Amino acid sequence: MNRNNKAAEFAHEWQRLHTQTPESVQQLVYQTVDRHCHDLATLFYEHMLTDPEAKPFLDHDMVNQRLHSSMQLWLRQLFALEQSDGLTVYRHQCHVGAVHARIQIPISMVMRGARLLKQAITEHLIDSHLDRSGLVQGTSFISDSMELSMSAMTDSFIINVGKSVRTDESYRMFALGQNMLAERERQRAALLEWAQHLLLHLLSDSGTSIPVMRHSEFGMWLQHKASIIFHDAPELDRIRSCVEKLEQRLIPQVIEGRSNGEDTRDAMKQVEADISEVKFLLTGLFDRFLEVESGRDSLTRLLNRRYLPTILMREVALARRAGASFAVLLLDIDHFKTINDTYGHAGGDLVLQHAADLVTANVRVGDFVFRYGGEELLVVLVEVGLEQAKQVAENIRERFAAETIRVSDSQTTSITVSIGISAYSGHPDYEKIVKDADDALYRAKAEGRNRCIATA
Ligand code: GH3
Ligand code: MG
Ligand code: MG
Repeated sequence: MNRNNKAAEFAHEWQRLHTQTPESVQQLVYQTVDRHCHDLATLFYEHMLTDPEAKPFLDHDMVNQRLHSSMQLWLRQLFALEQSDGLTVYRHQCHVGAVHARIQIPISMVMRGARLLKQAITEHLIDSHLDRSGLVQGTSFISDSMELSMSAMTDSFIINVGKSVRTDESYRMFALGQNMLAERERQRAALLEWAQHLLLHLLSDSGTSIPVMRHSEFGMWLQHKASIIFHDAPELDRIRSCVEKLEQRLIPQVIEGRSNGEDTRDAMKQVEADISEVKFLLTGLFDRFLEVESGRDSLTRLLNRRYLPTILMREVALARRAGASFAVLLLDIDHFKTINDTYGHAGGDLVLQHAADLVTANVRVGDFVFRYGGEELLVVLVEVGLEQAKQVAENIRERFAAETIRVSDSQTTSITVSIGISAYSGHPDYEKIVKDADDALYRAKAEGRNRCIATA
């Protein structure tokens, strides 16, 4: 259900609730809420502050200055006699839900708070000497109003949490577009600078205050930017615990030892070892990221095989939805071992790069070319049937056979390739189509190489 439908449904329910509940009952509920709303807000936040899960989100000042009065206002508006129309109430509840999402208050906590309020308002109502049937109506009016409010809040909470996840992701994509090699060098230099300050300070006993990691350029990067770029990479936690160990234990040890006139050389060695560990982790983190997150194989610049499932699952879904098709080519260079044996591994590498460029140049921009194995490439041809795929494969095979490749300043060579072809046949498992292409490739090799074979 989309958002407009939800709003309309809410407005409808809201309207129904207010028509079916006698005005006198609504009035009594409002008076009860109005009379007690200060205490209700206090009760709500006192309870929240005793909850270890909730406490980090709230501090006393914030509660006293802002939240307490917003809560009272929210209660009064929810039970107001002069009801604004349901759509306005809906928007207001959505707004509150969106704020909760932005400040990351867990939804479970809000629900628990709402239950608490519901109970407290009902208890106050019981004290108000309503007759039995009025009490029943009042209780369900309180309960339904709160339920409706919570459902709108939850919907908007979920939408907004989704949005912030997407924003995180798009920021990460933006960060990926940055020059990560330069970023790595910058952060290594920043770490080094901080370490030099620290060591100088510890050695010279200068009496100035110790440079705190958190305030250094590297420390700020670690705190703010690193977790966005690297998500929850395990190295980040290890870097943080190294820093903590350094600042809480190792540095104080040196300082204390020095002031007691002890030999601090061992303690200093530990400080240096800890800094080296951070340096090592940082480099490893960037390198892993550069290799994996670029998604490209470093030799051929083709897509890394690890992304194949994502791409194929997407293509299967698209094909199923649109009734379209796609195809897979699995290409293996013939007698590649001989190339390596003749021209050395470096010569083999040049041939591989050439092969990658040739295949890329002979498919469309929208197709995907992966390095599938050592000298095997896999191409996903989008929106083609088997016949078209065969033509593309045959064209690639002919190009290979016709070209000469430079393997050193003085030598050229030529290669042939075998290609297995399969097309999407409606089978929902993408591995089936890869297996079909692999079987076809096997046959192409068995039947003499330098040929294309398609699954029957
Ligand atoms: P076939 O016609 O049956 O495919 O024979 P082949 O010699 O090509 O046999 P196979 O496909 O089994 O051999 C692949 C060889 O590719 C083995 C391996 O040493 C070499 N290789 C794999 N990756 C690389 C690489 O990155 N660079 C170089 N130079 N060689 C590689
Ligand atoms: Mg081969
Ligand atoms: Mg092979």
